[in-house]
Amino acid sequence: MQAAAGGIFPSALTFDTMVRDYLNNLSPKKREKALLSQYMYDNVMAVLHDPNCTSIGTAQFRFWAKKMFSLTSFGEETVIVHDGKPVAVKEQIYEVLTHCHAQASHGGRDKTSAQVRRYYSWIPKEIIARYVRDCPFCQNRRTSNSSNTRMSSSQAFFK
Ligand SMILES: [Zn+2]
Repeated sequence: MQAAAGGIFPSALTFDTMVRDYLNNLSPKKREKALLSQYMYDNVMAVLHDPNCTSIGTAQFRFWAKKMFSLTSFGEETVIVHDGKPVAVKEQIYEVLTHCHAQASHGGRDKTSAQVRRYYSWIPKEIIARYVRDCPFCQNRRTSNSSNTRMSSSQAFFK
């Protein structure tokens, strides 16, 4: 799914800014774990592979990793799951959202997040909401819809 080029989805650059803004608005404690970077993902994976290990991250990190996540195998590949769904790493989220927002035919936040949740976990609803809000196609449609509404109510008036 090659998105942004035609301007019907937020660009990767817009999305980066969006994510940074989202993270900056969180408390430092939440910020740390709101999204899983590839680096953290690998560490969680290592902890789950070797639950008795004491050399990866802090004790608190290992506790959190074991509490929140588990491992599942899809054929050859082992992935981290949360709530029964594979965990998306931070670097993957843009692509996932663009794909799911397209599958939802530019549906709103709820439609798009339902679509996202069919495949992945660990993508905050707030990020999905921001993505949908900043989608140029949806913004256009919202603008033209509101002028259509105005038109039809004035037509109704003259009936
Ligand atoms: Zn859209």
